[in-house]
Amino acid sequence: MAENKLFNRIESIKIRNISKKYGEIKALENLNLAIEGGELLILIGPSGSGKTTALKTINRLIEPDNGQIKINNHDIMNFEPVKLRRNIGYVIQQIGLFPHLNIRDNISLIPRIEKWDKNRINDRVEELLDLVDLPKIFAKRYPSELSGGQQQRIGLARSIVMDPPLLLMDEPFGALDPILRKQLQIEFLKIRKELGKTIVFVTHDIEEAFKLGDRIAIMDKAKLVQVAKPNELILNPKNDFVSQLVSSHKKFMHMDNLKVKDLMVELSNKYIFESSKNNREVAQKMKKNGIELAVTVSDSKLEGIANFNIICTAKNKDLREVTEKVHTFSPEKCLSEAVAELKEDKNTLAVVVENGRPVGLMLTDKLLLELV
Ligand code: ADP
Ligand code: MG
Repeated sequence: MAENKLFNRIESIKIRNISKKYGEIKALENLNLAIEGGELLILIGPSGSGKTTALKTINRLIEPDNGQIKINNHDIMNFEPVKLRRNIGYVIQQIGLFPHLNIRDNISLIPRIEKWDKNRINDRVEELLDLVDLPKIFAKRYPSELSGGQQQRIGLARSIVMDPPLLLMDEPFGALDPILRKQLQIEFLKIRKELGKTIVFVTHDIEEAFKLGDRIAIMDKAKLVQVAKPNELILNPKNDFVSQLVSSHKKFMHMDNLKVKDLMVELSNKYIFESSKNNREVAQKMKKNGIELAVTVSDSKLEGIANFNIICTAKNKDLREVTEKVHTFSPEKCLSEAVAELKEDKNTLAVVVENGRPVGLMLTDKLLLELV
């Protein structure tokens, strides 16, 4: 094993009886949780329920008052905290890129401290930009030149630059536009498959939890209420709190009765652009609105979609020239048929169209795909 590697892969993380108090405030009370190697475990609960505290005990940003955490059966108190953190990726909502460093230097902060040679650093940065779906030329740009979503991707790239087998994520998509968030979730699922890491992911969004999680741990008032697979939570909620939290997902159990319009996200005007517009202008508007997908129209009729990265790299062209064809559905179409069509096409996105005009977006996710 390389000198700074504590583990090549995660077999298990065992959290036993962890508690943490701040004065009289209980942030965590007797948390017991076993995380399996390779799984994506969601921690979900209302604000103040102890999610961030629980997450930070794993990389020792917070030391619990009592209890024990073992990774691969080693007590983490026996590891040097800095070394432990080099082996655990950490992504937060605020991202925390350094404004005066370009993207390459932001991503390669730790490799530079570890004195990797220049070629190795450049190769790794290019590899990671590719992984998070950003053009290589972004290496030379500065954080302020990037949109919120692009910065969040850089945050993810930086967190995995040392190829840690464990990734902790604290509401990473929490501050993003709702549609961009769904896009990043789908991208993240793809990346996750390629990486095969163990991930603990905090969110307060039950949709996101169902979309991403292998298992979901529900917290309330500093305690773990229930941990189970998404469908088990729907079928066997432990109490009213769980049952209310997952109630919106009961509808998925009767998907045959649903139509595309029941699941689509409505398209507000900020997503819709005339295809005759110049890309420079479109890119500016998209960055300002915090979106990465443009739905292009001509005379209000749908032409297709265009991706922010591509628009950014073709600024002297018109939007029409970078517009791609997209799958379309009518709002009244049966949802399970629509999802099956997308699945067959290996597609995750469709535009919902009424009389030729774009009215919504349909983005499929893991839960939906499993149900069809
Ligand atoms: P969550 O991430 O679920 O919103 P946290 O884990 O951040 O919740 O916080 C759990 C509880 O502990 C909250 O009541 C919070 O106010 C309290 N808390 C967290 N950190 C501190 C701190 N450094 N000092 C005092 N209270 C804190
Ligand atoms: Mg938190």
